Amino acid sequence: MSVPLYEFHCRDCGSFDRSYSMAEVPAAADCPDCAGESRRHMGGAFVRPGSAAARLIDATTRTASEPAVVAAPAGRGGAPVTRNPLHRKLPRP
Ligand SMILES: [Zn+2]
Repeated sequence: MSVPLYEFHCRDCGSFDRSYSMAEVPAAADCPDCAGESRRHMGGAFVRPGSAAARLIDATTRTASEPAVVAAPAGRGGAPVTRNPLHRKLPRP
């Protein structure tokens, strides 16, 4: 299992990467060059675009902002629950 990389930014030396486990990533870290406080870049873990992790994060963010709402109840009036023609012969509640 790989440890995610987090990007920190030192005002004097620029940005650098540190890896932390998800549970213990701090909001700031010491700069490796000047030991000054460097704030973590928001945006979090480095994720390869198009990777499974990126798609999962995309889907999670999208679901949080625009949940997939069903427009009509399944069955009566709405979209058919199944496309199998035999299922139409089943008794309806
Ligand atoms: Zn520095």
